Amino acid sequence: MKKLLIILSSVIAIYLIGLLGLNSHAVQDRLLNTGLQNIVNNTDQFLDKQDSLKIVVCGSRSPLPSPGRAEACILIEAGDDIYIFDMGNGSANNLQQYQVPWTNVKAVLITHMHSDHMADLPDAHLQSWIQGRNSPLKVYGPEGINLVTKGFELAYSADYQYRNEHHGEDILPINVAGFNPIEIIDNELIANDTPGLEILPFVVDHHPVNSAYGFKVSYKGRTVVISGDTIHDGSVEKYSQDVDLLIHSAISIDIVERMRKVNTMPQLDKILFDIQDYHTTIEEAGEIARDANVKHLLIYHSIPTPQNTVMEKVFFRPLEGKFEDYTLSDDGTRVVMPVETNDIIIDQIN
Ligand SMILES: [Zn+2]
Ligand SMILES: [Zn+2]
Repeated sequence: MKKLLIILSSVIAIYLIGLLGLNSHAVQDRLLNTGLQNIVNNTDQFLDKQDSLKIVVCGSRSPLPSPGRAEACILIEAGDDIYIFDMGNGSANNLQQYQVPWTNVKAVLITHMHSDHMADLPDAHLQSWIQGRNSPLKVYGPEGINLVTKGFELAYSADYQYRNEHHGEDILPINVAGFNPIEIIDNELIANDTPGLEILPFVVDHHPVNSAYGFKVSYKGRTVVISGDTIHDGSVEKYSQDVDLLIHSAISIDIVERMRKVNTMPQLDKILFDIQDYHTTIEEAGEIARDANVKHLLIYHSIPTPQNTVMEKVFFRPLEGKFEDYTLSDDGTRVVMPVETNDIIIDQIN
């Protein structure tokens, strides 16, 4: 009892000292300055020494809401170069928090022109401009991508002008404001000057979207496929043979149908019904991974994104006994695949 009292009083004493310390300006200043140092200069999440193909999920959800998650966004780092596939709502905010070095971002690639895959292009433009981008932001996309970037440029023309005038031509030069849109051609490698990197786009079926792509990325023997949004038409499976990582979008018909049963809004009911015919089911995603001999399956753009353990278990029920080497991605999920190894290291970016 006496021992317990001593321990208790020591804990209280430490707590009180800590509390008093927090009221001291000197302690506050020291803590704040250390914190700010980490906030402003924390760029070591990227460009580490190890040569690897690295993936960071910068947006893991579909348009159905899920707290704390951004819409579709996959960052791929190969050596010192970064490519970003899709930029849905909230993804630019994530990239800013992760402190992505935009000067190393070679291009943004858009799988298809649904808003949940490109809504944050204007913020990507601003962040990269502030960090010293020296030419208009390169954006690869399906047929019509030039109209999208033209539209954003028109909407933001006053913003470009205001920021250029306020911060000056040296900091935000007006001649690099705007985008450089490049149309993707099916099965034609995306031109890039990253040694050892190949980015191969392939057509997927997301009808009535008339032009939608998936991508296969290879870097020095390590491989990843991004499905984009698609039905199971065989394309993803074809390009995913023996890849290290398949990043696939997936819908749970089971959960969407349960949502329809409890929903009372006719408009939402119609949408929840319609979305079922142009996405790959979670069961199909598992079968694709199994049949293509994929090493690991990373689910993103999940419909709906599981918000708790029970929902996650029900979502993945169709994969039981079928394909169990999978991960449900969250915003910040990172996959590191060092070259000349078979390692697939999955963790969470800070
Ligand atoms: Zn989508
Ligand atoms: Zn879509």
